[in-house]
Parts: sequence; C-alpha cells; structure tokens
Amino acid sequence: MDVKAAAREKLDALRLQILELSHRIHANPEIGFKETNAVKWISEFLSNAGFDVNTGIHDLPTAFLARKGGGPLHVTFCAEYDALPGIGHACGHNIIAAAAVGAGIAAGAAADEVGLTVQVLGTPAEENGNAGGKILLLERGAFRDSHAAMMIHPAPFDALTPKIIAASMFDVRFTGKEAHASAYPEVGINAADALTVAQTAIGLLRQHILPTSRIHGIITKGGDAPNIVPAHTTARYIVRADTLEELEKLRPRVYSCFEAGAVATGSKLEIVGGDKPYSEMIHNPDIAEYYRRNSEALGRSFTDVDALEKKAAASTDMGNVSQVVPSIHPMVRIDSLPAVNHQKEFAEKCVTESADKAAYDGALSMAWTAIDLATYDSVRSQLLNPRK
Ligand SMILES: [Zn+2]
Ligand SMILES: [Zn+2]
Repeated sequence: MDVKAAAREKLDALRLQILELSHRIHANPEIGFKETNAVKWISEFLSNAGFDVNTGIHDLPTAFLARKGGGPLHVTFCAEYDALPGIGHACGHNIIAAAAVGAGIAAGAAADEVGLTVQVLGTPAEENGNAGGKILLLERGAFRDSHAAMMIHPAPFDALTPKIIAASMFDVRFTGKEAHASAYPEVGINAADALTVAQTAIGLLRQHILPTSRIHGIITKGGDAPNIVPAHTTARYIVRADTLEELEKLRPRVYSCFEAGAVATGSKLEIVGGDKPYSEMIHNPDIAEYYRRNSEALGRSFTDVDALEKKAAASTDMGNVSQVVPSIHPMVRIDSLPAVNHQKEFAEKCVTESADKAAYDGALSMAWTAIDLATYDSVRSQLLNPRK
C-alpha cells in the first residue's frame, strides 16, 4: 500500500473519534487563553495516538506541542480551538482543531517512512486581535524548527489562498469628569461625547482611505447612568489594511480621530494595545499547489470564485507565521449560507455533516500535502535549505 493510502486508512480508523472531539469542543466553547478543556481533550487524544505531547509550552497554559516521527523535514499543523464571546464556535475553530489532529495522525502514520517529523501545535487565542497565540509562540521560538506550517479554516466557500490582511486591535479610554447631568452639567466633562466625536470623525475618514482598508469597533463602556455625566468611557477598535506597511500609515489617522474627541470635550485620551498586530498572509505557492491537488482529489473545487469570496477579507495570526515559515491557510467550505462566520447561525453549522466533512477533507488534504513535501525532492530540499 502506498503511503498516502496508509495515511488515509489511519485517519479513517479514527474518524469518528476525531469528529466526536470536534463536537465536544464545539459544545464547550472557551474564549482565548481560557481553552483549558479543549487543550486537555486534544492532548489526551494525541497522546493516545502515540504522540509526545507537552502542554503549557512557552509559558502559555493553553498552548501545546504534540510530535511524532523523527524525520528531517518538520511540518507543523496549527490547531486553533478558541471560541467567540457570546456566540460560541461561530468561527468553527472546533473544525480547525479536528483537522489539525486528523492531519497529524494521518501524516504521523507515514512520518518515518517518508522522513517527516509531524507536529501538531496548539495555538490559543486567535480571535484576540492583538498578541494572538501564534504571535507569542512565534516570538518565543515555537516555530523555530518548522520547515512548513499549515492550517485550514471553515468558511462558506473553498478558497486556496484567501485574502488575509493585516490588523491591529487596541483599546481606547477617555477620562472626563462626573457631574449631575441636570443640576450641574456645566462642571462635567463628557467622556461619552468624546467617543461620539471620534466615531463621527472615523465615519468621515472612511471616505478618504483605501477601499481595501477597514475600521470597526465597539463601545465597551459608555457611562454608568443618564443622570451622571460620563467620566469614564472605553472602546475597542480594529484597523485593517492590505499590508502591515499600509496599516501603519492608516493607524495614526485613526488615532487622530480619537484625539479629536479628547480635544473637543476636554477629556483625557489613552490608547492601549495595538502593540502586536496581525500580519498579512504570504501563501506559499508550492505548498498551496500540492494542497489544491490533494483537496481536488477529494472532490473539492477552487474554481468558482463568487462575489462573496472575492470581497471577503479577514485577518489571522497565521499571517505572522507565514512571514517566517512557508505556510498555507486554505478555507474549507461548509454548507453554511446564508450564515457566514461570526454569526450564531454559523456556529450551528459547525457540527453538521458538511462541517465534519470539512474537518476530514482538511485533515487528509494537509496530511497528503505534508507527505508530498517530504516526497518530492525539489520542494523538500527547498524547504530544508531555504534561500535567505
Ligand atoms: Zn473568527
Ligand atoms: Zn477563525
């Protein structure tokens, strides 16, 4: 039997348990850096499958590394498992985790034969928006010996090289002065008005930015009572652009809008965070091409790019990984429409038959791709000896 068939057989033998793991993570949503149960369940699963597992690596309690095989080519499958506040697994990271586990197990079955070291790296808190788990893991050396990194992400469509743009998230705090809103309003300094001015300025700024950039946010505190002039307000904003370079041109213009709010009202402004932005993604063309062929062999298609796919642009800390390690981040279709990512209706679609198929197809496509990377001389030697 050839190695790819053997990998598939191994995955098929554990398919139901892997899907059960996906459903269990889905039923117990945990937000970034609090994914204790998910990490426990995934670690146990991989340990039972013969992996060497270390949890709490690099001072991150909900990160882990599982390793199998001793070959020279180190391929890393990234597992995400964080949920979203309030709407659970509405980004389907349970599918990402299951696919990474399945890919590790399938490729792990062939590792020694083809010269692979297979790593499943548990990367917490992708949804955090600043200093995501992969950024911290990258800084602390977790990707140092990876020659290639892969993950898949569920979406309403299949996409080999989805548009992944740079993003920076930060918190804004305005400090004013309380006062009785009716009896003594003239001595109050209204920190909520500062936010209103800032939001208005940002709305006007949108006419004059690149159509590919985005600015969006929420008010996290707007005041305490209508009869108290709000003295403390906070907001959380994300600025995005095609590249980190473009982002750094836009970000100060958005900060100026918040400064306008402070100036107009006499409030004090503080901006916190934004120090570890998400980078745009570099899709490695060779790895992507192998992934395409393997995924097409399972009946998937990347040809019918529709309008929704063309305009969709998101961000991930996998972008930061891709700046350093040859990487891919394909989208795998689940039958979710009209629901899209970050809707509670999408969460409901992340444990359906098509979600399970996405996890399986993603797992096997990645495992077969890892085997290709280890088997084909030109790509193998290129990954082992990257031209600096
Ligand atoms: Zn998401
Ligand atoms: Zn996501």
